[in-house]
Amino acid sequence: MISLAPPVDSWLYPVGSGIYCEPGDFYIDPGRVVDRAVITHGHSDHARAGHRAVLATSETIEIMKVRYGEDCAGVFQPLAIGETIDINGVRVRLVPAGHILGSAQVVIEWAGRRAVISGDYKRASDPTCAPFELVTCDVFVTEATFALPVFRHEKARHEADKLLSSLRAEPDRTHLIGAYNLGKCQRMIRVVRDAGYDKPIYLHGAVVALTELYQKLGVDLGELLPVAGTDPKSMRGGIVMCPPSALGDRWSRRFGDPVNAFASGWMRVRGRARQLGVELPLVVSDHVDWPELIQTVIETEAQEIWVTHGREDALVHYLGTLGRKARALALVGYGEEAE
Ligand SMILES: [Zn+2]
Ligand SMILES: [Zn+2]
Repeated sequence: MISLAPPVDSWLYPVGSGIYCEPGDFYIDPGRVVDRAVITHGHSDHARAGHRAVLATSETIEIMKVRYGEDCAGVFQPLAIGETIDINGVRVRLVPAGHILGSAQVVIEWAGRRAVISGDYKRASDPTCAPFELVTCDVFVTEATFALPVFRHEKARHEADKLLSSLRAEPDRTHLIGAYNLGKCQRMIRVVRDAGYDKPIYLHGAVVALTELYQKLGVDLGELLPVAGTDPKSMRGGIVMCPPSALGDRWSRRFGDPVNAFASGWMRVRGRARQLGVELPLVVSDHVDWPELIQTVIETEAQEIWVTHGREDALVHYLGTLGRKARALALVGYGEEAE
């Protein structure tokens, strides 16, 4: 049967800095200030300050307020997961993306067609956010951060066990865990707790506010103490969470001879760990790895795949060999920030 529905790209298309829905007159994760933005999650390459109106999950809105201030958008409109709203005849709903707290895929339906803009997502378990929910669609917009066959992430629990055995083997050395301050940091703390670690965990100043927000929003992270004002000797043999940039900088000298660990999907690349002076690489990512990415694309049954930030070319080529129509969107302004 020939479908009379208009192709999705006649009403939803990339505009350089984001994806625009023409009949709804809104942008998804726009890279510049717009009147109406739908935001998938709080990472800074997706959520920017200054939009007139922002539609997002309430958690994402809270995250944006902590990062950019209470007034970082003209109007905030929270949309609960699974609830559908109508914007100029376009049906919009948010479903969990499994990426970080509050992260959502945007499901858009118009004229008999459905598109899913996944933002960033993962399929692996993460006790700090709702799990990814699969929605079949005509067009699936996917990230490609780790879209090369070499990228296979470890189970977070496995890497937490590795960290705890390093603590037992090096009881006099502080373990500094470099982790992105939104999502990865809080997930690592939770997974380390689940692995049985119940001592206080220390926080670099740059990770305090968002970690406190996670707790406020109901994610139990156990006892946390600030590094600031704590005697470095009392942190010896303990765990300190910090942004990756703090590893090996002046701040870290107070710990004497710490074990530098880094929780990131990039730690799969040994040269990268070595280059950064990382003694204990933890291969934990909040993005899909290659097998999860391919599995997800197939499961969505989407005939058309739009690929954004990361290894776009490799994925587009591979999807072509599977008989899927794939195109790189080449949006500007997306980076590796979230890793
Ligand atoms: Zn991203
Ligand atoms: Zn992200």
